[in-house]
This record gives sequence, C-alpha cells and structure tokens, in this order.
Amino acid sequence: MLRLYDTRRRAVFPFRPRSSPITLYVCGVTPYDTTHLGHARTFLTFDVLVRHLEAGGRPVRYAQNVTDIDESILQRAARDGVSWRDLGQREEREFLADMRRLGWRPPDVMPHATREIPSMRAMIDALVAKGGAYDIKGGVYFDTSRAGHYGELSRFSAARMLRILAAQDDAALDDPERRDPVDFALWRRVPSGPRWPSRHGRGRPGWHIECSAMALRYLGPRIDIHGGGSDLIYPHHENEIAQSECATGQRPFVGWWMHAGPVRLAGEKMSKSLGNMVFVRTALETTTPQALRLYLLDSHYRRPFDHDEAKLVGAEERASALAETLGRGAIGPLGRDAATREVLAALDDDLDTRTAIRALERGARRAAAGSRPSLRHLARRVLGIL
Ligand SMILES: [Zn+2]
Repeated sequence: MLRLYDTRRRAVFPFRPRSSPITLYVCGVTPYDTTHLGHARTFLTFDVLVRHLEAGGRPVRYAQNVTDIDESILQRAARDGVSWRDLGQREEREFLADMRRLGWRPPDVMPHATREIPSMRAMIDALVAKGGAYDIKGGVYFDTSRAGHYGELSRFSAARMLRILAAQDDAALDDPERRDPVDFALWRRVPSGPRWPSRHGRGRPGWHIECSAMALRYLGPRIDIHGGGSDLIYPHHENEIAQSECATGQRPFVGWWMHAGPVRLAGEKMSKSLGNMVFVRTALETTTPQALRLYLLDSHYRRPFDHDEAKLVGAEERASALAETLGRGAIGPLGRDAATREVLAALDDDLDTRTAIRALERGARRAAAGSRPSLRHLARRVLGIL
C-alpha cells in the first residue's frame, strides 16, 4: 500500500485516490534559463512516482504547465534583445531535450499559459461573480478574507507572508486600494507589452491563476496529487487552493500536496535568482543519465539535497556496478523475491528512493539468476538507473 506525505495535513497517509486514472498536476518551468539540478530533482521525483504507480497497474493522468508568459521572461528577452516568444520557445525546447536525456516520463498534457487565457478569464469571472475577487486600478485581485482556510497549507503567520511578498519584485504591497496586502493579482492591467483582452481590460494573468485554471481544465475540480518544489508552498500553492476552492465550491482541491526539497550548493538554494546553478547539460558532459538519476534520487525527496561532486562521481561507479550485474538479459515482470519486495516497500513508504536504490544494489549483488529479470524491471522501468 502506497503511503504519501501530504504537506497540508503534515503527515503520511495511505494513498487513496479519488479518480482513475490518478490525477497529478506538477508546476512546471518558466522557460527563460537552462535546466539545473534543482528542476531535475523535482521532476524526477514525480517521474519515479508515476513510473511506480504505472508499474503497479495504476494509470496516471499527469499534467504539467509551461509558464511561457511571465515578467522574468520579458525581462530576460529585453536584456538579450530577443523576442519573448522566441526566448520561451527556445528554452522550452532545451528543457524538454534535457529531460528526455534523463529518461523523463513526459506529462500527458503540457498546457501553455499563453494558450489558456480563456480558461483563466472564465475562472476570474467566476471568482468576481461569487464575490471572491475585486477590481481596482491595477487589475483584479483575489480577496483572501473570502477564503475560509487561507494559510492552511503553509501555516505561515500574516507577518511571515508579508516578509516573503516584500522580497518579490512585483508584489506592489503599498497599493492603497488593496484590501489586504496578502491579496494577490488574478489579472494585471498593463499599459504595454504582451496583453490579452478581457472584460477587466487588456492585461496579463497572474501566475497563480494559471495553474488553477489548467488543473481544472485538464484534471477536474479535485485532483489526487499536486506537486512542485517546496518553495512554491507559499504564495503559489496557498493561493491556488484559495482561488480553486472559491471558484468551484469543491474542497479539498488537492488530496495530497507533495513538495520536493531544494537542491543546495554550499548551503544555498540553487536558483535562477541567485545564479548558483549546476546545469543538467553540464553534468551530462561528464556523467551518464543513469548515474545522474541515481545521484539525484539517492536522498529522500522531501529533504534538502546538497550538491557534492564527489558523490556524483561515486554515483557513476554505482550505476556501472549495477549495469555490470543487471545490464545484460531480459526485463521480466515484477517478481515476489525478497529484493523486489524490499525495493517496492521502500517506494511505498513515501517514495523513499534512497532506501529503494540501496536495496536494489544489495539485491543485485546477491540475486539468484531467477530474480534478475524483476530487479532489471525496477532498475530500468521504475527507477531509470540502468
Ligand atoms: Zn503552479
């Protein structure tokens, strides 16, 4: 029985999905820069989750968005003197190529923000009609006082929320018309740049409404698993819950919130804004995709991951040793042998890939010839490290 940690309830629960196929939404990239190890670790976590569910005969419908319009894309395009559409398309192609090399099980749908404006406008109209949003000079804002459970995901105090918002460039916290500084933009009226028409004037959608609208359109009003990096808990996912539940009247919007911990370099989170990134592409110049997967999956997904070149070299040796013992021969169905059961039990325990990989390595060293086809199945099709 698969058990997964739910960030909202702060505990591990047996995973009982509402739907078949199981619905999974993962927040995707804003394509303006190269894929780094932090992205790869988050997306590989959900890759292994989907592979594990599918190997157990449970189909998954997986949606992941592309935020192809955003202030960061516009700023980078202006800096580099290129069109924002060309920049976004180029970086998205690069992202997909990097992830393909890592053996990523791609999403079933990858909606793009610029092509989903009608569903975002419809959700904003529904929120305005229900009194959950208000229109002021700068645009349309969500009224957080109308969300009965606001703050339930992050459990942050109002003061802590404000500190986080103040560190973001576009928060406009001093706008006197806002009813509460934690209220957030659903639609921004802008005087120039890419804009779309709406009954609230020409403008651009807020980032949070994008994911709520796409999740509703492609997966329905209540979804089984919503994932992303832990830095998205507040404000992004908190705001998604507020606006989705207010717009649809259905609760909870998400059964299991799953958040991957950050990848750090010398103690600091690897991020575009800090510029301290190790790119997937660079790592793959000196190591194999299997070794990089083994390296990134060799810690529990909820824990922070500290990048360590020596461990990456060690992962290459471990992947070679696995290839040595399991590499040749057929892939069989999952067996009932002790090693297979140990690996599956680790994955069922809140996706403990670290314990699963170590059990697989031990099993591969000791395995009788009869259990190798099953261990190959786990190594190649579920963990992707062979
Ligand atoms: Zn999102």
